[in-house]
Amino acid sequence: MAAWLLSAGAALAAPTVVGVRMGDQGDSTRLVLDLTESVRYSVSVLDGPYRVVLDLPIVDWSLPAADEARKLGVIDGFRYGRFDNDTSRLVLDLKGPVEIARAFVLPPEGGARYRLVIDLKPIGTAAFAANRAAAPKAAPEPQLAIRAPPPPARFDKPVIVLDPGHGGVDPGALGATGSREKDITLAMAKELRQVLEATGRYRVVLTRETDTFIPLQRRVAIGREVGASLFMSLHADSVGQPSISGASIYTLSEQASDKEAEALAARENRADLIGGLDLADQTTDVAAILISLAQRETMNLSATFASYLVPEFSKDWHLVRNTHRFAGFAVLKAPDVPSVLVELGYLSNPNDERSLRAANGRRPVIDAVARAVNRYFDLHPV
Ligand code: ZN
Repeated sequence: MAAWLLSAGAALAAPTVVGVRMGDQGDSTRLVLDLTESVRYSVSVLDGPYRVVLDLPIVDWSLPAADEARKLGVIDGFRYGRFDNDTSRLVLDLKGPVEIARAFVLPPEGGARYRLVIDLKPIGTAAFAANRAAAPKAAPEPQLAIRAPPPPARFDKPVIVLDPGHGGVDPGALGATGSREKDITLAMAKELRQVLEATGRYRVVLTRETDTFIPLQRRVAIGREVGASLFMSLHADSVGQPSISGASIYTLSEQASDKEAEALAARENRADLIGGLDLADQTTDVAAILISLAQRETMNLSATFASYLVPEFSKDWHLVRNTHRFAGFAVLKAPDVPSVLVELGYLSNPNDERSLRAANGRRPVIDAVARAVNRYFDLHPV
């Protein structure tokens, strides 16, 4: 009977990736995924930078820690996780252009698992460009991750959109003891929603409710679709110096306030690339948006909200110096929604990481944000 229960449980579980291995085949690099079941897959190559994207149905990942740091041959590292409601994704960073020489699934042999095998062969940039031109157009990017509330509900209370940074295949920053930015920002957003909704004053919408990947433009679009009066993107940074700690607050500007802010925006704007999106066709109409009048008013309100966050954070949490800064964050570009990006702290700092990974450690930060939100809507009623 125990055996029957076990197999019934196994039948309900998603296929699981239990290993990622790499091998040198001379003229190519072989990637092998060990799987508990045979799965459908599709594999494609992207450039700018060169990447391989492997899409699978929803799978669980149970990789030995040693596998996660692997790089070999043309493969310079990899990430994996949920991409959208139907897809799990593995993204390989490459040292240069490749072609998919072969891809196939091998059935189990003896006690072995199913093996999904992909051979990557280095090629020249001209051959890569020719392959890209000949390849069928990629499927459209994933659309709506959450639905807008029905229109009547839209005007009864101001809507606040909380945007937990990163997610799914894009883990964001990694902490000193292994915590992941994507998990901390999601937990934080859910807790903050509870606190804000408990006031009875707001409706709160999250750009993601689960550990899934949401493109940056989609996050902005959600804010506009639900008619948000305030958009807050939540992040946590990681840098080489463990001593640096504290929160910092950012609003959009064409001109970055300093080199550090510019570098941070560049890091955060890489999310789409990390998630394996093909950015070749995306328009960069940012300049046009930035000069609109609506944008100017919105930028003033964003800066106002940021100025309310600063004193609250310094009361119950701590801030880095020059704490309100500006840069070109893609996620803050809705022309008509006041938007702020908060780096809650540094996961590379042991104290910040310890606080942010625990619910009771996050609570003072959440209360500080909630006080700033209340003050903002007290003084700028919608
Ligand atoms: Zn981030």
